[in-house]
Amino acid sequence: MKLGIIGLPNVGKSTLFNAITKAGAEAANYPFCTIEPNVGVVTVPDPRIRRLHEIYNSKRTIYTTIEFCDIAGLVKGASQGEGLGNKFLGHIRDVAAIVHVVRCFEDENIVHVSGKIDPLADIETINTELILADIEVLEKRIGKVAKVARNDKEAARELAILEKVNAFLAEGKSARAMTDLDEEEAGFVEGLNLLSYKPIIYVANVSEDDAADAESNGYVQKVKEFAASEGAQAVTICAEIEQEISELDDDEKADYLQELGIEESGLDKLVKASYRLLNLISFLTAGEDECRAWTITEGTKAPQAAGKIHTDFERGFIRAETIGYDTFIDQCGGSMTRAKELGLLRSEGKEYVVKDGDIITFLFNV
Ligand code: GDP
Repeated sequence: MKLGIIGLPNVGKSTLFNAITKAGAEAANYPFCTIEPNVGVVTVPDPRIRRLHEIYNSKRTIYTTIEFCDIAGLVKGASQGEGLGNKFLGHIRDVAAIVHVVRCFEDENIVHVSGKIDPLADIETINTELILADIEVLEKRIGKVAKVARNDKEAARELAILEKVNAFLAEGKSARAMTDLDEEEAGFVEGLNLLSYKPIIYVANVSEDDAADAESNGYVQKVKEFAASEGAQAVTICAEIEQEISELDDDEKADYLQELGIEESGLDKLVKASYRLLNLISFLTAGEDECRAWTITEGTKAPQAAGKIHTDFERGFIRAETIGYDTFIDQCGGSMTRAKELGLLRSEGKEYVVKDGDIITFLFNV
């Protein structure tokens, strides 16, 4: 599951992407996957892993990761094929969610493509391209479905939804902003893989001077309001600072951020927001060899969660022994023996839905 970074030229996409690749997870953790040059992998910050590592004195800690891909080159006219437009729109079609970087920093030396800083106009420019591409998809589909809709109830229903979405987009609004879709309609629209229906995070890129108090930046407020109007999220970062700190270790990074008066790194905020946006949660495994976080989608059952570790775990799944991280720390003082004595280590079967922070040992047949 990848998120795609988009935005107009000169808004700070590459700067953010560089920060992502530099902060990137140790390649050694990924011996089996080749990472494409435009894909950056970042670890998902998780203080629980550090704590488990202290408790177990484990040899390794492994954080879970999330992938971002840099989709540069989106300009006005992209849906008409300008600036290699269609190719980029195709890349957006492949990602699970969009990170839309918006320029909220002033800098006379850096040219703005339309001559002035205007985040809402920038957002509209990009969103219009996505909407136009969606309208093209919808109209093709409407043309096909309309032919059979007269004698086919199912097709008639489909046609009605397609036309409803099309009319909404024609007003220049993104499909994700539709609030009156019922469950069936939403499921159908989801299946269309429209660009303007993809979950999105707007990233307000502010200057170094504004980083500590981004709320006072009027542009940021506008981006936030716009995001809220679409039911989307907004995160503020200073891409320049992120690039600077991406090479520091955790302690140095914390010191530097404190010096600047910044509470949490923008990249960390973005990663967390991305995780939530995609309905991802982590379960944990802990032992002397390693303490590790694993990513699953909310609602995943125990055998499929086990399958994330190894397909054999899923195939031969017997049961999961588990305890929530908070219970483990708060009520058992971080001791599995204590957890067992208190009867808090539970045994769960095939239908168990794994929760965020579950510490799990899987039992399986080989
Ligand atoms: P892209 O075209 O969207 O990939 O934009 P770049 O990342 O190449 O950034 C364009 C210019 O803006 C570069 O000169 C960056 O150094 C500068 N830039 C990016 N982020 C910031 C920022 O947060 N503050 C300032 N002052 N400049 C930035």
